Amino acid sequence: FFRPIEKINAIIESYPKGYSGFKRFLAILDTNPDISDKPDARAVDEVQGDISYNDVRFGYTDTRPVLDGIDLSIRAGETVAFVGPSGAGKTTLCSLLPRFYEIQDGSITVDGIDIRDMQLASLRRQIGIVQQDVFMFSGTLRENIRYGDLMADDEAVWEAARRAELESFIRALPDGLDTVVGERGVKLSGGQKQRLSIARMFLKNPPILILDEATSALDTETEASIQRSLTELAEGRTTLIIAHRLATIRHADRIVVVTENGIEEEGSHSELLERGGHYARLHDVQTVFV
Ligand code: ATP
Repeated sequence: FFRPIEKINAIIESYPKGYSGFKRFLAILDTNPDISDKPDARAVDEVQGDISYNDVRFGYTDTRPVLDGIDLSIRAGETVAFVGPSGAGKTTLCSLLPRFYEIQDGSITVDGIDIRDMQLASLRRQIGIVQQDVFMFSGTLRENIRYGDLMADDEAVWEAARRAELESFIRALPDGLDTVVGERGVKLSGGQKQRLSIARMFLKNPPILILDEATSALDTETEASIQRSLTELAEGRTTLIIAHRLATIRHADRIVVVTENGIEEEGSHSELLERGGHYARLHDVQTVFV
């Protein structure tokens, strides 16, 4: 994900909406090549994962801010689900944290340190992203899983595969971890690709996690088992979820409702239902979450 642009050539497929996923990937890599380290930027290592957005303003163009005056504090280890109408800015809000885009006003801090004062690579090492579209590289399963940690040995790769519930699938393949995936190899199902991206994150082991929850239709059983792996993955990490599933939302420590007016309300599921506001209305129209 964070590798240099020449890796694009190696992308062989993405899931579930290949082209849009690919475009999105390009868009991210293309973004602000001028985002770079300040001369005195510091390397951070093993952050706790306290996150704070302070009066943040951001727009993709100068004329129209997508986010304006965002204030949000997330405690280390907390799981926060972002919900709200399509296009309100949930994804944008989360992508400001790894500095895919530079904010126009305000600040974002991690453990009290402004992210602009951190070395970009070290900031991004603290953050794992599980996206709807899983990028696969032409190569073996081992290489694809090790993308989460290029130094990982086979034992660590198997452990990550086990925790992502991918182990029995790989063990059943004649070539195991040496199996070539993609166009010239074994084709993975949508659910297997999702699990592979979860395995990468177990290897990467970041203190902060951003989950872009899939909106695509996986069968119920697959979805439930992936949900289990994601819940395990989120444990002990600060987790921001761009949420679409009611089950995820219900179990989050906090729900943040983002609308075109910014953060409209936040609280637990029951607090927000009691409040009878935007979330309660969304909840009544459950299809909004699907
Ligand atoms: P969804 O639930 O559909 O994913 P969202 O709440 O995550 O929506 P964003 O994807 O953050 O919303 O989009 C917020 C606004 O910014 C939208 O108006 C969108 O069209 C615009 N936008 C998003 N990405 C870009 C981009 N790369 N360049 C320009 N505008 C963008």
